[in-house]
Amino acid sequence: MKSKSLLSHFLTLYVLLAFLAGIVVPSLSVWLGASAFRNLQIQRRQADLESLGESLTNLYYEEGGVWSSGRVKDILRPAPQWGGMIIALLDSEGREVYTLRPRPMTRRHNNGNEHNNNANTNSEAEAEVEHITIKLGRNKDIGRLEIERRLPSGRYERSFIEYLTLYNFAGALIMIAAACGVGFIVAGRLSRPVIKAIERTRNISHGEYDSNEEIKSIGIRELDELTNCVEDLGRTLAGQEKLRRRLMVDVAHELKTPLTVVMTQIEAIADGILEATPERLNLCVNEMQRLGSLIQNVEALTRLEGESIIIHKERTDMKKFLEPILESFTALFEKSNIAFTSELENNIICEIDSNKFRHVIDNLLSNSQRYTNSGGRVNVRLYRVNNSALIQVSDTGIGISEKDLPNIFERFYRTDESRTRITGGSGVGLAIVKASVEAHGGKISVTSQKDQGSTFTITLPIM
Ligand code: ADP
Repeated sequence: MKSKSLLSHFLTLYVLLAFLAGIVVPSLSVWLGASAFRNLQIQRRQADLESLGESLTNLYYEEGGVWSSGRVKDILRPAPQWGGMIIALLDSEGREVYTLRPRPMTRRHNNGNEHNNNANTNSEAEAEVEHITIKLGRNKDIGRLEIERRLPSGRYERSFIEYLTLYNFAGALIMIAAACGVGFIVAGRLSRPVIKAIERTRNISHGEYDSNEEIKSIGIRELDELTNCVEDLGRTLAGQEKLRRRLMVDVAHELKTPLTVVMTQIEAIADGILEATPERLNLCVNEMQRLGSLIQNVEALTRLEGESIIIHKERTDMKKFLEPILESFTALFEKSNIAFTSELENNIICEIDSNKFRHVIDNLLSNSQRYTNSGGRVNVRLYRVNNSALIQVSDTGIGISEKDLPNIFERFYRTDESRTRITGGSGVGLAIVKASVEAHGGKISVTSQKDQGSTFTITLPIM
């Protein structure tokens, strides 16, 4: 189906409404009102004629059973004022007793079945003329009244309706013109932000994520939300794009560093500049191992972030699970002159995959050791809040700046400070930690202050 613009939709709708409201509805009500009024008039006349017949019948019996044309005349005289009628009184033999405004009448023969108040309307030429016969007499036939009258509707009512329709029509034309104007303004107001949103989305799809244009509210909630959502989308994609670029640079850097070291050493040995001492060869082996572990980490991360992650969860007492891990780090912290303490609550049971979760804790402890200076402190806490187990690793290390904090769980993201330290990191550890914790149905968050220290908090559901 060919789609029409918002403007043409609105104009069609408004004109249709104006047509209905300006012509159809008023014309219908005028027509119905006029015909009801006409019926009312006819019924009234009918009642008047019947009471006239009643008066004549009374007169007939008062006169002793004869028609007195003089008194008949008195009774009938006001009748023409009721609407230009011709009224003829005929006796029971059909002889004319008295005719008001005598002129040749279209006499019709009433058959015997005709009832009182029987009204016949002839068609075409006499369409507006009505013939009525009113039989007179109480128990026996004493005569009849024959009336020829113009119908009260006729051309007056018709011209009244015609005028009204004309006025309606003129009114409707004005309404339609106004509706077009209003439709134009409303549609313009509605379509402008939509068109802008379309343009913006198109630009975003072409890679122009940032926009310098100021966002103005137009006061229509849904459209304002649409504009804001498109802007948010642009901002999010811009952020993602920045991270992606940084990721590419970082990955290249991480891969290049060990390769360069190894290449320089081997080339120098091959050229006879350096001797192939065990130390030099060991350095090469270490760098290759670093490269290998980097690739392994990337593989592990890809598996964890993919849908195929398989976790073998078991009910585990978290204190019992943590104690041996902390124990294995004691020597390292001691060597680095970092005070290492822990506060672990009993009886906190979670469902975890011990192998994968050990990797999580290892990573956090290893980070806190690498990013904390000699003389610092690292503390591990395990406690319960409602139905969750919280594991907190806090240190008094170098901390993370506010600008880096939202990104440190991204793959290969390393702060500038950590790059300048020789810590041997590659920036994938926390990404793996996050994916693993989420695969366990938990969450990880971090609070940190530069040069003050960091606290990583894992929340896990308690069984
Ligand atoms: P890396 O191997 O570089 O340590 P991670 O993914 O484990 O990679 O951490 C990403 C970055 O987060 C680190 O490079 C470092 O800048 C920062 N970071 C992680 N843990 C800490 C911490 N305890 N204190 C300060 N910075 C940290």
